[in-house]
Amino acid sequence: MQLVGKVAVVTGGARGIGRGIALELARRGAQVVVNYNSRPDAADEAVQLIKQLGSDAIAVQADVSQLDAAQKLIKAAIDFGGRLDILVNNAGTTRDMLLAMMPESDWDLVIATNLKSAYNCSKAALKPMMRQKYGRMVNITSVSGLSGNGGQTNYSASKAGLIGFTKSLAKEVGGRNITVNAVAPGFIPTDLTNEILGKIQEDAIKATPLGRMGTVEDVAYAVAFLASDDAAFITGQVLSVDGGMVMQ
Ligand code: NAP
Repeated sequence: MQLVGKVAVVTGGARGIGRGIALELARRGAQVVVNYNSRPDAADEAVQLIKQLGSDAIAVQADVSQLDAAQKLIKAAIDFGGRLDILVNNAGTTRDMLLAMMPESDWDLVIATNLKSAYNCSKAALKPMMRQKYGRMVNITSVSGLSGNGGQTNYSASKAGLIGFTKSLAKEVGGRNITVNAVAPGFIPTDLTNEILGKIQEDAIKATPLGRMGTVEDVAYAVAFLASDDAAFITGQVLSVDGGMVMQ
């Protein structure tokens, strides 16, 4: 229970990988703010699951691509837990299409949801974390941000951007005892990947040395480690959780 007494915010924590992370942080004793955008039903369910684990949680609606909404989310976390120890920038989306056909709105939406959201939430979270002289930030990037993926220029750019953001911020705030790391999942079955995995699941497994798809728990364990005091001397790193698909 190494996260007892810690307060965590997980953006997009109601469903998929975010829910897995929220539950794992709670299992280790953290109080969790489950952020959602459009699915209050899923967020309420996640909060109930966390309470069943014996931890405390609230659901907070915020479109984290918007700075003012992200600021309200962080304020709600402070009001809830009295402090903020862990921020997981997990919210993300895709609008896959070849660049030649990609509308500007799909480029802008993906960059705002996946990358600007990290600026919005991290900037707001820095104030309380710097005051406390303690913080753990974990940004969810992707194998697509490491190796690129045809049909995903917007998504890959947002996820590669998150890696540069992670390393730069880690250098800025290390002196305040705040660590900033990234986790790069491979293909994990969730609502986000349902459609694409239907088409490429066999190929994806063939390209994975460990020979299987990942699970939300695989990702959540890595995030929980980086969010814990066991990872106190690790910052600016990208931890791949992809069964060996992309070896850096
Ligand atoms: P998912 O099941 O589609 O869940 C996405 C989550 O993001 C939802 O909870 C959604 O909230 C939230 N979200 C989207 N836009 C938001 C916004 N503007 N403000 C706040 N929340 C927002 O996707 P997932 O597979 O769990 O993906 C989670 C993260 O892992 C993403 O960053 C994704 O890029 C990354 N990732 C996934 C995979 C994979 O294979 N699944 C691989 C590598 C990286 P609502 O439902 O409330 O709208």
